[in-house]
Amino acid sequence: MSIRLQALEKIQSNGKGVLAKEQKKISEIFGKNVFNVIKMQEYLPEKALEAVIHARKTGEIISLETAETVAKGMKKWAMDFGATHYTHWFQPLTGLTAEKHDAFYKPAYSADAMGIESLSARDLVQREPDASSFPSGGLRNTAEARGYTIWDPTSPAFILELESGKTLYVPAIFISYTGEALDYKAPLLKSIEAVNRAVTPVAQYFHPNAQSVIATLGWEQEYFIVDENLYEARPDLSMVSRTLFGILPAKGQEKADHYFGSIPERVQRFMHDFEQEALRLGIPVLTRHNEVAPAQYECAPMFEELNTAVDHNLLLMDVMQRIAKRHHLRVLFHEKPFAGINGSGKHNNWSLATDTGINLLSPGDEPARNLRFLTFFTNIIRAVERYSDLMRASVASSGNDHRMGANEAPPAIISVFTGSLMEQILHHFKDHGFNNGKDFTAPTLELNVPKIPEVLLDNTDRNRTSPFPFTGNKFEYRAVGASHNCSFAMTVLNTIVADQFHDFHVDVESLIKKGHSQEAAIVQVLQQCIKDSEHIIFNGDGYSAEWEEEAARRGLANIKSTPYALDCFLTEKARHLFSKHFVLNERELDARVSAFLDYFIKDVEMEAVSYQEVISTHVLPSAINYLNRLANAARGLKEMDLEESANSIRALAKEIGAAIEKARKGLQDMHHAKEAAEHETDLVARAKRFQDELRPTFTALRDAANTLESLIDDAEWRLPHYRELLFMR
Ligand code: ADP
Ligand code: MG
Repeated sequence: MSIRLQALEKIQSNGKGVLAKEQKKISEIFGKNVFNVIKMQEYLPEKALEAVIHARKTGEIISLETAETVAKGMKKWAMDFGATHYTHWFQPLTGLTAEKHDAFYKPAYSADAMGIESLSARDLVQREPDASSFPSGGLRNTAEARGYTIWDPTSPAFILELESGKTLYVPAIFISYTGEALDYKAPLLKSIEAVNRAVTPVAQYFHPNAQSVIATLGWEQEYFIVDENLYEARPDLSMVSRTLFGILPAKGQEKADHYFGSIPERVQRFMHDFEQEALRLGIPVLTRHNEVAPAQYECAPMFEELNTAVDHNLLLMDVMQRIAKRHHLRVLFHEKPFAGINGSGKHNNWSLATDTGINLLSPGDEPARNLRFLTFFTNIIRAVERYSDLMRASVASSGNDHRMGANEAPPAIISVFTGSLMEQILHHFKDHGFNNGKDFTAPTLELNVPKIPEVLLDNTDRNRTSPFPFTGNKFEYRAVGASHNCSFAMTVLNTIVADQFHDFHVDVESLIKKGHSQEAAIVQVLQQCIKDSEHIIFNGDGYSAEWEEEAARRGLANIKSTPYALDCFLTEKARHLFSKHFVLNERELDARVSAFLDYFIKDVEMEAVSYQEVISTHVLPSAINYLNRLANAARGLKEMDLEESANSIRALAKEIGAAIEKARKGLQDMHHAKEAAEHETDLVARAKRFQDELRPTFTALRDAANTLESLIDDAEWRLPHYRELLFMR
């Protein structure tokens, strides 16, 4: 029996599946496993606690002495909790998190006896993993293995409780011996500081008491859930995280009846379990719902300070994968696991806030009369206008290529959705300035439904087709891929925003020096910003063909694939920007491009190998077996003088034969393209050849396999159908 049929049988006999664990009240468990302020109050001297809180607020560096004090308290807490090991938890350029566990105790030899020595606090601050096997994009060759992980005190440490034991996780950055960032976190922290430096002086025009500005992030994580048995019966899913072919079931997402529908019980039990664990780890998960596609779901927390939010997203992805296994399910974070069905993104809701707690993008009741709001709103739009190419490149990956520009996800064209009210306000501001007498009121809604309370409408409608819509009091960067570490997209966004606010401040100050009032200076510079950015605003349907044409007329780029998108990081403009704000120096930036290109090539290469495997060892054998049966049948019918019936079977056999030939030829073409591309020595050129020459050969393979899947006896077919993957649970 094929693994597919075995898998189906296992699902049938699974019954209800695994039960959810006991549900605890949120107030009882939230943050239980986190070294948060409450625990610090208990375990740290007051001065050390203050230093940590101050550093989190202002980004100021903590002294080594304080760090050691904190580490000592942290260790005590972890050991009281029952933890036996600890690890630095860092974010190498693999996109995954990395860890290396050490015991809290180590044996110590002395002249008389072997004793046990407790680990020093300094060990908690700085560790030295062997760095040679992590991608560095050429920043370090294998012989120079030295790399350090250094504790990030701005993100809380936590304890993971597994059946195998309890381990203290200490969030850390990862740098080379020469001090260059080998990870995602160090540049992110630097970009957060760049925002603080550049934005605070502008925030102070309106809020003189504000001493610092932080970025906030609330991500929404989309994902698919499939049964583990079916997952394992699809070698493409388990090897390259997406299905390389598969025919669409009769019922897909056409009726949108899955979206916000009731959550299937088995999935809900899984959600309960991972949410409870997330809450223990201090991840403030709030929202869960079905997404548009069958078997697609979303999870979203309450927003947090950006660095912590990124860590929490990575941690949650890990927790979800672990808990899913307990429920015999698999989580798919790939951006496009199924062709023809919606892909998954990670919407990054992003805003800026002062240390005094003011959301700088909050429009208030009268946005047109709120100069602070207009200043922040306009400058961010202008930043996107100036650096839309970098934003596009910040979300480039082979998986996201399937999503960007496919007619159901953010298009590869970067634009900003403001909503029509905000667009009118900006337009009026540009021509007539601030406080010009015109009233703009938010839309109201007369419901005329008895007993239903009157509702207030948001200032903006929603737009699912925009990569960067304004959604009421924040921007939502929707183009980030579901599998991505959101650090990089956020690092780029922070940096371009910092650059724009820096320039804005310079312009305003120079007008003030010339004798303008502060308000007049701000208004004048903003008017110019609006003029310069109007063409990036688009409030229509981002999926439409008209938008592609319109965007081309407006001169907006539409770069559909990763190797071409990444080109813009290799320009003088990009190098200058990132080094000017101390986020990435030229070598660090180049290294990231190399690492991304390398990953892109490996992804496509692995897909090619996987095509070879599934077509040759699953699809073709099924087809040939079935062909054999047809041949026998045709022969038999002919013997019975049923020539006409024999002919229709022959026709069917011919169709199958043609698809087999198409697959065989497709594999040959794929091999030639792969070999030729692999010969290219220059990395950028190689990636482009993988894109332009190898990737297109996949289409014929997909088509041939789909044809065969639609013609062959279901009992003969070895790989789970989309119908089974998407609907069986
Ligand atoms: P959607 O309707 O787009 O799915 P959700 O309500 O599910 O939106 O998610 C919105 C996300 O935006 C939540 O994570 C929420 O915490 C976050 N958010 C709200 N305000 C801010 C803010 N000021 N900064 C960052 N994120 C925010
Ligand atoms: Mg959303």
